[in-house]
Amino acid sequence: KLLSTQSIPTPTNPHVMKTPNLPDSKRKKILITGGAGFVGSHLTDKLMMEGHEVIVLDNFFTGQRKNVEHWMHHPRFQLVVHDVTEPIMLEVDEIYHLACPASPPHYQYNPVKTIKTSTMGTINMLGLAYRIKAKILLTSTSEIYGDPQVHPQPETYWGNVNTIGPRACYDEGKRVAETMMYAYKNNNGVDVRVARIFNTFGPRMHPNDGRVVSNFVIQSLQDKPLTIYGDGSQTRSFQYISDLVDGLHALMNGRYDLPVNLGNPDEYTVKDFAQYIKDITGSASEITFLPATKDDPTQRKPNITTAKRELGWEPKVTVKEGLQKTIAYFARVLEEAGEIIPT
Ligand code: NAD
Ligand code: UDP
Repeated sequence: KLLSTQSIPTPTNPHVMKTPNLPDSKRKKILITGGAGFVGSHLTDKLMMEGHEVIVLDNFFTGQRKNVEHWMHHPRFQLVVHDVTEPIMLEVDEIYHLACPASPPHYQYNPVKTIKTSTMGTINMLGLAYRIKAKILLTSTSEIYGDPQVHPQPETYWGNVNTIGPRACYDEGKRVAETMMYAYKNNNGVDVRVARIFNTFGPRMHPNDGRVVSNFVIQSLQDKPLTIYGDGSQTRSFQYISDLVDGLHALMNGRYDLPVNLGNPDEYTVKDFAQYIKDITGSASEITFLPATKDDPTQRKPNITTAKRELGWEPKVTVKEGLQKTIAYFARVLEEAGEIIPT
């Protein structure tokens, strides 16, 4: 059965929902590449609700039309179906450049395409930003730190990535994307922002996204075995989506132009996290151990001193509150879909 989350639009129908009428001098035209994905659609909501004009550009590889469908007939919203590996000409004030698959099964599905998306896609967006004098923000990742030997990770850590491993298409793609951002800044004067995002979760994650939060929640809600890859001793730190969106917004609108970690330092072993989700959902699921995936980072936790100091930002939503909202969301998705077998 086809999954539909159409009955859960947040915010509600724009014909009912009023967005502020900003004066022309305050209203910005903003491009969000990857805007139909998990993070991009929440960012779209925030910027639309502020009264800006938003263009979402997406090729729907992992994004879903229904994530932005509630804006489709709004006069200040546009959806452009386009692949960032191809050049495009648009007139905007700001570019949030998110386009790139983010979950390991999706970015490993076609590694060459993932590399092209991060490299050619970022070159195309930087070329556009340069031509039209737009500010551009790249959503980089904690994956650029690889399997970190420094813990927690500050922005000054250079990372430990296996250049030929299965995660390299994503990690190295983002590393070179960061390099290109600063080459364009230093050589061409482009106004850049770089967010290094740590594991983020919330409503609108694709049910088959394959990431740990959606997998464990969907498995728990169906009393199916929770699948731990490896022995579960690896750690991750989890941030709720609204905190990330606030952080991206603060970064774009602030003056600080070096890379900034955005994440919640609340760290769990994957094994404890499985038990935690099982407890919150009251699930009867068993916990099973599957073979570890190659090059899976053993530990990850952000040092967010820079974000606190430079942006006055820190996470506000606890992992527990975030999980409760996410569980409620997936419970509704499941109600509509019947059964879901996560990737
Ligand atoms: P997502 O897969 O839900 O969204 C990615 C979006 O980009 C999708 O809508 C997809 O269709 C689109 N896209 C992919 N390739 C494209 C292409 N070639 N041309 C046009 N559109 C394309 O993932 P997400 O979690 O929303 O991640 C968004 C961004 O944040 C990504 O850049 C990702 O690397 C970064 N990030 C996310 C997390 C996280 O935990 N969610 C962590 C670190 C970094
Ligand atoms: N993981 C797991 N079971 C799953 C999905 C993920 O044990 O069903 C583990 C994965 O091996 C990793 C952690 O959970 O150690 C986070 O994985 P995710 O794919 O969410 O994000 P990553 O941080 O690896 O990009």
